[in-house]
Amino acid sequence: MNLKENLKPEVVFDAITDASSQLDLETYVIGGFVRDILLKRPSKDLDFVCVGSGINLAKRAASILQSKKIAVYKNFGTAMVKFEDHELEFVGARKESYRKESRKPVVENGTLRDDQNRRDFTINALAIDLSKNNFGALVDPFDGQKDLKRKIIRTPLDPLITFSDDPLRMMRAIRFASQLNFDIDPDTYSAISDQKDRIKIVSKERIIIELNKIILSKTPSYGFKLLFQCGLLELIFPEMMALYGVETKDGKSHKDNFYHTLQVLDNISEHTDDLYLRWSAILHDIAKPPTKRFNRKVGWTFHGHEDKGARMVPGIFKRLKLPLNEKMKYVQKLVKLHLRPIALVKDEITDSAVRRLLFEAGDDIEDLMTLCKADITTKNSNRMQKYLSNFKKVEKKLNELEEKDRLRNFQPPISGEEIMETFDLKPSREVGEIKNEIREAILEGHISNDSNEARKLMFELAKQKGLTTDNSKT
Ligand code: ATP
Repeated sequence: MNLKENLKPEVVFDAITDASSQLDLETYVIGGFVRDILLKRPSKDLDFVCVGSGINLAKRAASILQSKKIAVYKNFGTAMVKFEDHELEFVGARKESYRKESRKPVVENGTLRDDQNRRDFTINALAIDLSKNNFGALVDPFDGQKDLKRKIIRTPLDPLITFSDDPLRMMRAIRFASQLNFDIDPDTYSAISDQKDRIKIVSKERIIIELNKIILSKTPSYGFKLLFQCGLLELIFPEMMALYGVETKDGKSHKDNFYHTLQVLDNISEHTDDLYLRWSAILHDIAKPPTKRFNRKVGWTFHGHEDKGARMVPGIFKRLKLPLNEKMKYVQKLVKLHLRPIALVKDEITDSAVRRLLFEAGDDIEDLMTLCKADITTKNSNRMQKYLSNFKKVEKKLNELEEKDRLRNFQPPISGEEIMETFDLKPSREVGEIKNEIREAILEGHISNDSNEARKLMFELAKQKGLTTDNSKT
């Protein structure tokens, strides 16, 4: 098969072919770029392998392309050239051998075939010849093309050795299956189950990159089910594993929270590509196992799982090496508030409850509503319709109240400073009380979110507390 029509941008490929012929090197484009051509997926990053020095080839190609953006990694024998919005990676063909305790191989120079042997999957080992007289020819020693057609992830060599050598490949197998909606070949998958414990030599930082890619795939539940069935999930994310299973007492069962969570994750993924909104779906019920109780009258309860879940978020983020910044706080907030809109739709919707929700959710109110809608996984279509139509009512009310009271980014209409100045007070309990009571009055709808009304109330409250303005300017 010849793929020369697909080798674009032409200017890049022409430059590399010229550079290779000037240096008398055999050169190939290899890996993800070739796979993505055959899958007709866009791909910006290009990996080039040559039999010889990748660094020399990179330097020559950069000079032909007149790119000054070149980074050389001598220790790794690789170089990277930036050209427009493409990243071109260069490496010399290599042969790798591994030691038991590390995923860093011992590397020697090798042939193209050696280099293809060290690739993780048949679909990632495809190469295209860039030499002048064979330009565009596909080199596919492991039937990667057939696996692409059959939609199969398979290792080129013995999977047990492939995964034991570099256990990150187990995560990558599941990540590619989830991203591309491929099956994993049975021998390859059973080797993952077999070698799962080797994941302990992989850094958390590398694992989370793959896990996040699984989470961002179209139907992430597929990747999670693969992680679960082979036993990797238990090792990398035990809190999620703990959601699995159904317990029955006195004939009463609770739902399987693992599959429920996956359903919520798939539901939310239809509406958002935001990684952390998807994480909030994964974590919304994470504290159900530790809060689970059985009560003869009401059956199973998970009281306080939203608060405990929010408290568990920092520990989970820290261990998984997710960022401990405002993204984490955002997930925490959504986990904490995830029952609130549901509680609203079940009861009569009062203005003050909606105001309080707006006040607490702030700018994340839409995301919270998205999470809550995704959380409706009832199979009973009447109930589903009822919840959804009640949600519409809540959303309408949210919009009306927001327009009227602007509570989304609530700033107290009277500051503590102003209270202190008016009544000549030092920072004290009374100042806090007056502030809180004004806020409560606004949230309850007794006064509107307006500084005149708030000022009037401030004077009333001060009077009740026996405060005077004698010594101060009013
Ligand atoms: P994507 O860009 O979607 O992540 P990709 O296949 O380009 O896909 P990279 O991580 O950039 O992924 O890797 C480039 C190529 O390097 C792969 O196609 C594969 O051939 C090879 N490769 C990457 N990581 C490994 C690994 N751990 N073991 C073996 N080969 C690997």
